[in-house]
Amino acid sequence: MNNIDEKLQPIFADVMRRNHGEPEFLQAVQEVLESLGRVVAKHPDYIEQALIERICEPERQIIFRIPWVDDQGKVQINRGFRVQFNSALGPYKGGIRFHPSVNVGIIKFLGFEQTFKNALTGLPIGGGKGGSDFDPKGKSDGEIMRFCQSLMTELHRHLGEQTDVPAGDIGVGGREIGFMFGQYKRLNNRYEAGVFTGKALAYGGSRARTEATGYGNTYFVKAMLETKNSDFDGKRVVVSGSGNVAIYTIKKVQSFGGTVIACSDSSGYVVDEAGIDLDLLRDIKEVRRGRIVEYAQEKGGDVHFIPAEKGSIWDVACDVAMPSATQNELSGKDAKKLVSNGVVAVGEGANMPCTPEAVHIFQNAGVLFAPGKAANAGGVATSALEMQQNASRDSWSFQKTEERLASIMQGIHDTCAATADEYGAPGDYVLGANIAGFVRVAEAMRMLGVI
Ligand code: GLU
Repeated sequence: MNNIDEKLQPIFADVMRRNHGEPEFLQAVQEVLESLGRVVAKHPDYIEQALIERICEPERQIIFRIPWVDDQGKVQINRGFRVQFNSALGPYKGGIRFHPSVNVGIIKFLGFEQTFKNALTGLPIGGGKGGSDFDPKGKSDGEIMRFCQSLMTELHRHLGEQTDVPAGDIGVGGREIGFMFGQYKRLNNRYEAGVFTGKALAYGGSRARTEATGYGNTYFVKAMLETKNSDFDGKRVVVSGSGNVAIYTIKKVQSFGGTVIACSDSSGYVVDEAGIDLDLLRDIKEVRRGRIVEYAQEKGGDVHFIPAEKGSIWDVACDVAMPSATQNELSGKDAKKLVSNGVVAVGEGANMPCTPEAVHIFQNAGVLFAPGKAANAGGVATSALEMQQNASRDSWSFQKTEERLASIMQGIHDTCAATADEYGAPGDYVLGANIAGFVRVAEAMRMLGVI
C-alpha cells in the first residue's frame, strides 16, 4: 500500500517492475512520488512528457570488478558501482561508500536522493553515487591504498571535473579520497583538482568541507526551531553514529548551547549525561579508528555503553534527535518512543535514516521533521564550493566558507517551507523538499529536449 496519487500509480508500478529486489531504491522513489500528486495536478505535462519516469531511471549505471591483494598476499575481489543518475543541472555529483551492505539498489537509492538534494542547494550539480561492498574495518593502510587504486583503475575513465565528481560517504574519508585522487592523476596525467571533493587542504581541498554535513544539519534544525521561537540552548540532543557527520553535528550543537548526551556505532551506544566529550570521541574514532565502547571504558563513572542487541539509542529521552548513522536506523517503534519522550525536532544527518513509518509518526505528532535530502545537503553544497575554489584556483577562509554554508542551509530551509506553504501543507518539510527538488530537475530536463 502507498499514498501515491492515482495518476502516478502506473509510473510507480513500472518502477517496481523494473527494480524489484531493490527495496531501498523503491522506498526512496515511493517517498518522492507520494509528494508529487499536487505537482502533477498543476503541471499535467510532467506526465505527458514522461518526466517522472525519466527521472526515476538513472542515466547510466556502471558495475565493475575490483581485484586487489591483501597483506597476506591473497587475491581479494570486490564489486564496484557508479550510478550516474541525472546530469540536467550539472556534472554527476555524489559520494562513494565502502560498506559490506553496498549493492546496486543501495547506490541507486542514494543517487536518486542525491539528485534532489543537489538541486535543493541551488548550485550547478547533477546527481550520482558510487561505492563498493568492500569492508574497510580492520584493513591496513596498505590494503586500503591498493583497494582504492584498483577501484580507480576502472572508475577513472568515467569521471572528470565536467562529467562526474565523486566525494566521500560512509567508509570513505580524507585518506581514501587521497588514494583515489592520486591514482586518477597518474592514469590521466593531468592535475584535475575539481574531479574529486573532500580533498585535504594540502592539495586543493576546501576549508569547512569536513565539518559541512554535520554543521549544515545543525543549521537546518536551528532554522526549524526558530520558526517556533525556540533554539538549541539547554536542549538534550541525541546524535546517532560517530563518524564524520555525527562528530561535527555534536560540535555545532554544543556551540549553540545544546547538550549531546548520546552517540553510537554499529556495536551499540554510549550515554554521557554530562555531555559527550568530543576530544575523547574524536581521538577514539578519527585517530585510533576504535569502537565506541572504549569511550565508556575510558570515562568510567556514570557513563555507560549499551550493546546494540540490548537496546536502541532512540530509547534515550531527548528534545532533539539527529540520526546520523545510516539508512533505516530509526524505526516506527523508535519514533513512538521518541514522541512519548517529548521530542520536538528531528534532523536527518544520514541519508534516509528514518523509515517511512517513523516519518509519519513524527509528522502526525507535530514534531518538526527535516528530511535528509534537505537537512544533510550542507556536505555536498560545500563540495560545490570546493569545485568553485578549484575552478578559480582560489582558497577561501574558514569563515567565508562557513558563512556561505550557513546561508545555503537557511536558503534550503526557506525554500522547503515556502514550497510546503504554496502546495497547501505548511510545516511539511518532506513535501517541500521533494517538490522543490523535483521541480528544479524537471524544469531543466524539459528545456533540454527528450533526454
Ligand atoms: N556523501 C555525501 C552526501 O550524501 C556528500 C556527497 C558529495 O559531497 O559529493 O551528500
